[in-house]
Amino acid sequence: MEDLNKLVRSNIQRLQPYSCARDEFKGRAASVFLDANENPYNAPLNRYPDPLQEELKKKISEVKGVATQSIFLGNGSDEAIDLVYRVFCEPRRDNVVAIAPTYGMYEVCADINDVEYRPVLLDEGFQLNAGRLLAATDERTKVIWICSPNNPTGNAMQRSEVEKVLMEFKGIVVVDEAYSDFSSYRPFRNDLSKYPNLIVLNTFSKAWGCAAIRLGMAFASPEIIGYFNKVKYPYNVNMLTQQQAMEALNSMSKINRWLNILATERVHLLPAVAELPFCKCVYPTDANFFLAQMVDADTIYHYLVDKGIIVRNRSRVALCGNCLRITIGTPQENCELLAALRQYK
Ligand code: PMP
Repeated sequence: MEDLNKLVRSNIQRLQPYSCARDEFKGRAASVFLDANENPYNAPLNRYPDPLQEELKKKISEVKGVATQSIFLGNGSDEAIDLVYRVFCEPRRDNVVAIAPTYGMYEVCADINDVEYRPVLLDEGFQLNAGRLLAATDERTKVIWICSPNNPTGNAMQRSEVEKVLMEFKGIVVVDEAYSDFSSYRPFRNDLSKYPNLIVLNTFSKAWGCAAIRLGMAFASPEIIGYFNKVKYPYNVNMLTQQQAMEALNSMSKINRWLNILATERVHLLPAVAELPFCKCVYPTDANFFLAQMVDADTIYHYLVDKGIIVRNRSRVALCGNCLRITIGTPQENCELLAALRQYK
């Protein structure tokens, strides 16, 4: 890996970050807080939340097996995606390479930050080829984006190819594992010490069932996390979110029960959709959704909307012609979907 200081933008290296009132006071017992211009009434909502979410990180560290100094928490993983650009990519000069098709926010954030985005098509089995990704890089490529299991294709990337990218690319490699809890593949978050250029993204929005609280995680070396903390908004994760996340982390048995139900539903739903006369194929998935190629995705999409059932029409995405992306729902929701599709003529 290139020296981290050569990868980080020079203005970010020089940046004197905002110092919040609670950052300056730390550790000693106190009961009168007159330092942050808060209202003394309306406890506990009157107080600013912990800017570095230390209690929550301790709990996440236990559950995910990642050291607290290697954890960044943000307003959804979307915040971490944007921070990758703001920390590493010089607008109008640097570029990033990404697998395609993949999650749309990598490109949107590149556009917002005025950074060139270089998509590299997956092969027909939706697998990435490390050589082709690396061939798209040049001396101005700061980041390679990999999503595994990938959205919208659903499949996990071959570990050996991802490892090749991690070893051979001198810049930052982001592996977005938003859907890894649905997959039996070994996640990359426990390989941080092996790959100093690795950033792994996780989220509370999928397996943890907490999309509404907006909490995403980035796991990386303490040095990279230090840069994220320098650039983030001071109180980027609100108190209510921190409390709800703590509750979710203390309800592992409930989460595991959901994961088991969804795994069983996935086993039943995929072949049932594949059998429909207007379904050309269903792609294998390691996530809580799957791609189904239809004879005419647009018509079926609108037919389902009319029945009050919303799936995602991905038919205009590269390599996904006539594909609908279908999320696994409750047994009842999946039954309704199948009943509606079976009535389609
Ligand atoms: N990564 C991937 C691959 C996603 O599909 C999504 C959401 N659809 C996200 C990240 C964003 O997650 P969050 O809700 O944590 O911002």
